[in-house]
This record gives sequence, C-alpha cells and structure tokens, in this order.
Amino acid sequence: MIEPLLGRKRTHRCGDLRPEHAGRRVLLMGWAARVRDHGGVLFLDLRDRYGVTQVVFRPEKLEPPMLERARAIGSEFVVLVEGTAGKRPPGSENLDLATGAMEVEADRVSILNMSRTPPFPLDGTGTASEDLRLRYRYLDLRRESLKSNMVFRHKLVRSVREYLSDQDFLEIETPLLVKPTPEGARDYVVPARLHPGKFYALPQSPQLYKQILMVAGFDRYFQIARCLRDEDLRADRQPEFTQIDLEMTFVTEDDVFGVVEGTLRSVFARDLGRDLPIPFPRMTYEEAMARYGSDKPDLRIPFEIRDITEIAGTSAFEVFRSALAGAPKTATLVLALPGLAGASRREIDGYEAAAKQAGAAGLAWARVKGASLDGGVAKHFAGALVSKLLEATGGKDGDLLLFASGPLRLAQRVLGLLRTQIGNAAFKLDSQDFRFVWVHQFPLFEWNETRSSWGPAHHIFTMPLDSDLPYLESDPGRVRAQLYDLAGNGNELASGSVRIHRKDIQETVMRVIGMKSEEAHLKFGFLLEAFEYGAPPHGGIALGLDRLVVLFHGGDSIRDAIAFPKTASATSLMDGAPAPIDPADLRELKIRIEP
Ligand code: ASP
Repeated sequence: MIEPLLGRKRTHRCGDLRPEHAGRRVLLMGWAARVRDHGGVLFLDLRDRYGVTQVVFRPEKLEPPMLERARAIGSEFVVLVEGTAGKRPPGSENLDLATGAMEVEADRVSILNMSRTPPFPLDGTGTASEDLRLRYRYLDLRRESLKSNMVFRHKLVRSVREYLSDQDFLEIETPLLVKPTPEGARDYVVPARLHPGKFYALPQSPQLYKQILMVAGFDRYFQIARCLRDEDLRADRQPEFTQIDLEMTFVTEDDVFGVVEGTLRSVFARDLGRDLPIPFPRMTYEEAMARYGSDKPDLRIPFEIRDITEIAGTSAFEVFRSALAGAPKTATLVLALPGLAGASRREIDGYEAAAKQAGAAGLAWARVKGASLDGGVAKHFAGALVSKLLEATGGKDGDLLLFASGPLRLAQRVLGLLRTQIGNAAFKLDSQDFRFVWVHQFPLFEWNETRSSWGPAHHIFTMPLDSDLPYLESDPGRVRAQLYDLAGNGNELASGSVRIHRKDIQETVMRVIGMKSEEAHLKFGFLLEAFEYGAPPHGGIALGLDRLVVLFHGGDSIRDAIAFPKTASATSLMDGAPAPIDPADLRELKIRIEP
C-alpha cells in the first residue's frame, strides 16, 4: 500500500492554487487533514505548512486501483496526488481558505506513509489536555494556531536581526558552558568530565559576557540568546526561554529606549502591517506604583488609583483616620470602578478575599449613587466630605469605590492587583491595542527581611542615578537606579540598565549589600578584572522573545511560542527529559547519587 516517492516532485504547495491555475496539471503532497465520502465521491483536504487544498476523487473517472487507494487514506496519512486544478462549482467556494475557490480533480494517488490515528483532533475542535498535546508535540505543531506562531516567531526574529544589523549591532554568540554564578535564580549545572568535582553552569543570561564585549570594544552587541534558570516554576515560566539581548557603549537610557522602540516599530511595520507610534510614554517606578500599583501597568484599563489619605482621614472611619496619622508611610488609596456600582455583595466579598490574600487587613467599599455614597463605609462620610471625596476619587454616579488603607506599598499592590483582576474581568480589553510604557528609576536596592540586609533589585552591576550617588552608603533605600523595564498590556516585556563601569562605585555597591571583596572576586572576578582595563560606560536590555510572540500573535502562555516547551514541573513530556543517565557515565563523572 505504501509507495516510494520515485523522485516525483511537487508542482505546487498546498496553499498555492488560485483561479489562474485552472486547467493545469498539478502534483501535490501533504497530510490528509480530512477525508469525506459524499455518496461515493471522495473529498480529501490535503494540508501542508502553506495551506490546504481540496482534492476530489470521482469514482467514474478513476481507475479501480486508484479508487481503492483513495478509499484507504486515513487521517494524517502522507499522500501524493496528481490531477487537474479547476475552479470549484459556483456556490461551493470556501472563503476562509486562500485556495478556497479551487480544487484538484485527482486521477492518480499514492500513499507515501500511513499514520496512527492522532490522539486528538488537529483541526482545533475538541478539548485535548495540554499534557496530551505536549506528549505529541509534533502533532500539536501541525495545528494552525501553533504553526502560525512559529512562523510569526521566525519573521519577528528576522526583522529584529535586520533592524539591529542596520543599526550597526553585531550578533555575537556567548558560551553555553559558563562559570556557575549565583545570580538570583539557580543555575542548571553540567558536570565537567575532565575536571571531576567541577561544574559548568548553563547561562541564566549572557549578562557578564555582553558587558565584557563592551570592554572589548564591540560597541553594539545583540544575540537571540537562550537563558536557563532552574527556578521553581511559576505559571507561565519556562526553564529555558529566549531573550533578544543587547548591549551598547557610551549610552544613556534614552539611547537604549530608542533602539528598542525602533526595533518594535520595525517589527510592527514588517510583520504586523501596522504603524507603531514611538516614543513610548515613560513613567518612574514611583509613579507607576502610585497610579497603577504595579511596575508593569496595563494602560488599557480605564481607571487608576487615587490617594485620598487626607480626605478619608477626616472621616469617622477609624481605619482611615489612623492611615492619615501614620502618613506618609501609611495611606488610604481608592479605585473608582466605572459603572460597577451594581456589583453584588458576593462579588465585593470576592474582591475583599483577593485583597486579604495579597496581605491587606481588609477592603472598604461604597457605591456612588447620584452625588452621594451608599453602603459599605458610606455612613462614615458626612456632608461636604462626600463631594470632596467624589471629586478626589473621580467617582461618578454608578461607580463602585474600593478603598485600601494601611502601609503605602501594600495598599498600592493590593489595589494594583484588583485593578488588573477587575479590569480584565469587567472591561473588554482589546488584545490588539498595544500600549507600551517604559518604567524607569527603580530603586537600586531591595530590603531583604529574612537576611536583614540590602540586596540588588536587579543585579549588582546596575548604575545608580547620578543624583542619588551621594546617598549610596548613607541612605541606600532612597537610591534610584538607571534601571528600566518595558511593560506592555500588563506584561513585563524587557528589563535592563545602565551598568556600573567604575571600580569605586562597584565596590561601594558591593559594600552596601554586604558582599566581601573576596566573595565578589570568587563570583565575578573575571568581570571585575576586565573592568580594570578601560571599561567604557555601557548599558543594555533584554526583551523576552517568547512573550512578545504571544502578545503580538496570540496564545495562552509562552508555551505557545516555543516549539518544544516544558511543563510547569520542567519536564518534557515528548522526549521524557529529565532522565537518569547510565551508571557507567556517572562513574566516569565521579558522581554518586544519594538514595
Ligand atoms: N540580563 C538581564 C536579565 O536577564 C537583562 C539586562 O540587564 O540586560 O534580566
């Protein structure tokens, strides 16, 4: 039944045929996406990467052995057909298909290979579990949505390469086997057979190498770089993911922003056929937290956080009064949710539960009815205070007010969370409305409660703002960094910084976080040494490629942008990684596994 190819070649691919091909003799090869028997006439949808072509087998026009073969075609068989291209009869065209006006009247057919019945339908119908789809990833990749994400990913990378190359960036590969460096996340390690007891690490990012490339004088570097982090995976993280990684010499953040904006603008023009207005808006971390309670704000959501500490503090509500007493460390913040006054008590209770889960002591609320308040904390606001409050919150008739009161950052985070949650649930946010925003001037340090010490908010090579240099040691908490993120529709899309290139600043930063010089040299000695040989001012950024693909082209998670992703527990269901290795290999590596 299975026939050899016999050197036959395709005349067209399955997405090619158009009315002008009518009457041509064609030879197509592909997979049997669907076979239907319409009263003896067989219809085959033949699919390849480029599209689907309808093939017709008419019993009266086929030799019996050919007809027999056609009838034997099963789902996902690999099939070769020869015949005549023709227009479909009027009224039977399929407008959803590029080839939908055409069909091939087959006179010869060969089965090039058979297929087991796929464990789930490949036409997007049915609800196969993701585990099953990951197990048979090669079948899942035949589905239109995943396939087109791969195609889009390729195009995006091509555009990025071309744009950056045109801007004089050089694509340079950095090693995959690197020195283990504790950099936040855990390293994946590779035993060094030639050096028993020693290990390479797989890079968490090319960070140190790209900085050294700047010391080497390459001026502008980029790489489509794989990053590997052995983290306890949160939803939508992958142990290996890809960054568009870049670094530049003699720059300020404006230059880095300009390159990223230009890159995305070029991707929009080439691959999405859209104009992308640049430059993107910018806001400081402080402003992002104050207005959106998040460092990756979704600017599509039509309401913002307002600070009403003063006004609420003069109400009769004790919680609000004590927030005013503790200001500015404590605050009362509010969200006025447009048109949501009709929310049921159950819904409001749900919001409160979410607030409590985020660490809040509670969540106060009130409905706006005309020019007055109703329900919840309404009773604590009297007379003129109501109109003052409404003015300050921007609340209008029919709105629901949600108040968070307490430590400032916590209140911001809680309302930021609710803003995202309610914004997505109750408002139709357009996934094609891309709203980018730079968030910059993050704090340089974060206070680590458990270790009772300052730690770097990003990494230890991030340059403080020039104006904050005097406070590096005296007041580390107020030092802001030349550290920036690009956010888009609530996602963190990129992150980077201007780096420290001066030894004195680097040493001060290490002192603040309690890193001894010996420790620093053990971990980053090669970089610090390189810095002693004429390190230029430099900075860079890395964009999450997988995330960009999903944001621009669709998908539920970054798994939909990766050909062979892993599960949430970092396993590959298709090939069974990770897996034990041969005991002989372990012996050679001088590694013993503890039972
Ligand atoms: N290496 C950094 C990261 O992976 C990005 C950068 O600072 O360029 O987050």
